[in-house]
Amino acid sequence: MLNIILFGPPGAGKGTQSKFIKEKYSLAYFSTGDLLREEMAQGTELGKKVKSLIDGGNLVSDEIVVEMIRQRVKANLSGNGFLFDGFPRTVRQAEMLDEMFDEFGLKISGVLSLEVSQDVLVERMIERGKTSGRADDNIDTIRHRFEEYDAKTKPLLGFYEKKNLLNNIQGEGKIEDIFEGICKIISKLQK
Ligand code: AMP
Repeated sequence: MLNIILFGPPGAGKGTQSKFIKEKYSLAYFSTGDLLREEMAQGTELGKKVKSLIDGGNLVSDEIVVEMIRQRVKANLSGNGFLFDGFPRTVRQAEMLDEMFDEFGLKISGVLSLEVSQDVLVERMIERGKTSGRADDNIDTIRHRFEEYDAKTKPLLGFYEKKNLLNNIQGEGKIEDIFEGICKIISKLQK
């Protein structure tokens, strides 16, 4: 099984690259951001509960996202593997993912970290905001999402580096070139 965590700050291109990765390697793909937006669009209890947090650029609780992932991992254990985008986003989530994977007998193959400079990130997100319809793609909320990233998500880099799972990838440039960099790393992980 190939179990990949695609890591990076908001606007790093995780969603874009995920589409290529999941196709090429036939992985079960889960973006916690997409899953949460679906809940909001459907107006479920969970969607209502998380809406103000997401619209304000705050992370939702670890328990909520881990439970969403757990249900989907359980339902896809017979596949080729998993691709997570935007999860885990805190050290606590990463610890809970480790416990969950232990329970299911799974291993993380690698963490792919897309590296993009702050200027490019902001530019990309403002551009996306023109068409995404996302309430959190405006400059003030984008700023707050970066603060959340720096405070709560960035420490995961050290967490995974210690476990020898971290792989850095140049996340600027042409989409095809970035994907090529990703594929090179994945081929090493498969050995
Ligand atoms: P994204 O689409 O990955 O940018 O996520 C959009 C928003 O969903 C984030 O700003 C958070 O409010 C929420 N979210 C997505 N994934 C997570 C996660 N793993 N933990 C906490 N909040 C999350």
